[in-house]
Amino acid sequence: MPLIVQKYGGTSVGSLDRIRNVAARVKRTRDQGNQVVAVVSAMSGVTDGLIKMAKDLAGSPSEREMDVLMATGEQQSIALVSMALQEMGVDAASITGRQAGIITSGSHTRGRIEKIDPAMMKQMLDEGKSLVVAGFQGITPEGMIHTLGRGGSDLTAIAVAAALKADVCQILTDVDGVYTCDPRVVKNARKLPEISYDEMLEMASSGSKVMQSRSVEFAKKFGVVFEVRSSLNDHPGTLVLEEHPHMENVVIRGISIERSQARLTITGIPDAPGMSGLILGALADAEINLDMIISNIANDGFARHSFTMHSSDLGKAQAALKRVLTDLAPNSKIETEAGIAKLSVVGIGMRSHSGVAATMFKALGNADINIGMISTSEIKIAVTVDEMRIEDAARSVHDAFELHKAPA
Ligand code: ADP
Ligand code: ASP
Ligand code: MG
Repeated sequence: MPLIVQKYGGTSVGSLDRIRNVAARVKRTRDQGNQVVAVVSAMSGVTDGLIKMAKDLAGSPSEREMDVLMATGEQQSIALVSMALQEMGVDAASITGRQAGIITSGSHTRGRIEKIDPAMMKQMLDEGKSLVVAGFQGITPEGMIHTLGRGGSDLTAIAVAAALKADVCQILTDVDGVYTCDPRVVKNARKLPEISYDEMLEMASSGSKVMQSRSVEFAKKFGVVFEVRSSLNDHPGTLVLEEHPHMENVVIRGISIERSQARLTITGIPDAPGMSGLILGALADAEINLDMIISNIANDGFARHSFTMHSSDLGKAQAALKRVLTDLAPNSKIETEAGIAKLSVVGIGMRSHSGVAATMFKALGNADINIGMISTSEIKIAVTVDEMRIEDAARSVHDAFELHKAPA
């Protein structure tokens, strides 16, 4: 019997009616002759609510306790979805991360899946049950609860699909698939029939939260083909898979935006070996996730570094740098800018096409939007702009590449 893993996100289980809808969909899939494993997120807003409670109580709460707290969100929804299924006469059972055998490593709140021991899931499937697995959680070999980073139920679903060698993996969400840009921002964005792992990964890691980026990395590594589609209708979604010659022949597959970014620039750094290592080392020790890194030598003979990061890390980054710079570079200065956002264009076609940057920058210029920093990779060009203008920027670049049109 084919095995289907379906992942239902927070909005899809966001109310009792939505939970009944999920249960009906699971039942339908089962009635069509499939074994079903549904991986579910916490009801929408629940994880945010738990985080807020913890922060109101403790300022900077212990990450171990944050994991214990946040994992409860998914535990509520697996029980509720299982109950809804049982009400419909389906033999269903909830499974926590631990029961699913999801073994993690790494830090609290950012656990990484090391392996899955699917024995219990397999046994219950053999007994004819449909399973409802808690997303976003796993357990360390020492028995500590870990969560897998925000949006981590996507990773649970992909990893469970790999471990059970599922025939189909569906990420069911509140949009019909992966679009050329967030359809809430660019109204005429187009749903893509297919996207390669590399493009999905670049889009996810530059702000397209439709998929958690680590889940896409995992899918690529283990060759899990998956489909992103709506939990509310039966429209075909977007297949995410290894690139192949028959994919739509486009230069730009999509555009991502990421808000709440900040820039930090250090000037007056002595132009000497080892300085960059010490500066980046201090930021790494403070667990700051840097995004863009741009360095150059100013004409005064001193070096300057500019970094972007999430704006919530700015204070921590400044404090970490002040500590090292006082000794290393007493004449250095730190300058910061918050309220910026990042716009990225992504496409494997960029490998063999030139002129993408020119089209992108002209579109922004024509819309009177100033570009801050620029960074590029083989399949991505990213710029920072004033956060107030990010939606205009996305729309003008989307128009310039005519992404609303299906390629001929
Ligand atoms: P879930 O709760 O199902 O995990 P998410 O909210 O994490 O859902 O992700 C779905 C959301 O991702 C959509 O509602 C949409 O606003 C946003 N999104 C961002 N970029 C894209 C894109 N390129 N295509 C589709 N959705 C996108
Ligand atoms: N509930 C978790 C979150 O909100 C995990 C998920 O939804 O995928 O980040
Ligand atoms: Mg999500």
